[in-house]
Amino acid sequence: MATRKVAVITLFPEMFRAIVESGITSRAIEQNLLELTLINPRQFTSDKHQTVDDRPYGGGPGMVMRVEPLAAALEASLVALGCSRQQARVIYLSPQGEVLNKKSIDTLLSDGPQTAANFHLVLVAGRYEGIDERFIEHYVDTEISIGDYVLSGGELPAMVLLDAIIRKLPGALGDAQSAEQDSFETGLLDCPHYTRPEEVLSTKVPDVLLSGDHKRIEIWRLQQSLGRTWLRRPELIEALELTELEQRLLDEYIRQHSNAS
Ligand code: SAM
Repeated sequence: MATRKVAVITLFPEMFRAIVESGITSRAIEQNLLELTLINPRQFTSDKHQTVDDRPYGGGPGMVMRVEPLAAALEASLVALGCSRQQARVIYLSPQGEVLNKKSIDTLLSDGPQTAANFHLVLVAGRYEGIDERFIEHYVDTEISIGDYVLSGGELPAMVLLDAIIRKLPGALGDAQSAEQDSFETGLLDCPHYTRPEEVLSTKVPDVLLSGDHKRIEIWRLQQSLGRTWLRRPELIEALELTELEQRLLDEYIRQHSNAS
């Protein structure tokens, strides 16, 4: 039996309705592919205003999240996950962390006690100027960023990470193949997609997709993936060792592309 549990420490648990109530993520949670618990550090304060932040030592603008409510929220998260501190991975969503990509998601689910079938993750969403550095030093295993820009809080990054993890769980997607064909899964970008009608915006669907010839369609899609990746993300192509067929398809794509432009 798989055990996949995630606790999120957040001052805005209501934001996670986007994950809990919509689409693939909602269905995965309903089907118990993953258990999600939301913990608000405000529950662990003793003052009337449920204060979780304070002014920064040394002065300067903004507020900093205090250690004590976060540490208590972490304890409560471990209870909810039903595991020890050693069995859990504590991730702080932070613009200063390693930038999230397919590889880092895979690594996260194959590191130490964490596997794709059994994982216990605690995601910490910061707010204000961030969280007291001592909490990070003492409790955080990994800092993850979703890109080189700063958001107001770690909730959206935590949801991005959750969605990316959930898509990888067996049974989460209606059609198991669609995850395998996603961009980055094979190191390439996905091919273009079309649906009915055959002609719209004065543009016809490429003939090959109407041919019913599955082998030709597969080859065409592979060539489109190679070509798109070469055009949009050449560094991804450089990182791959292409097969003879792939190299031939890419060369042909490049020739056609240069003739057209
Ligand atoms: N002062 C911090 C800095 O410049 O590194 C930024 C704090 S930000 C306003 C508040 C919180 O949003 C952070 O604690 C973090 O949890 C989250 N956050 C902001 N941008 C992020 C990003 N690119 N990736 C992940 N988390 C982010």
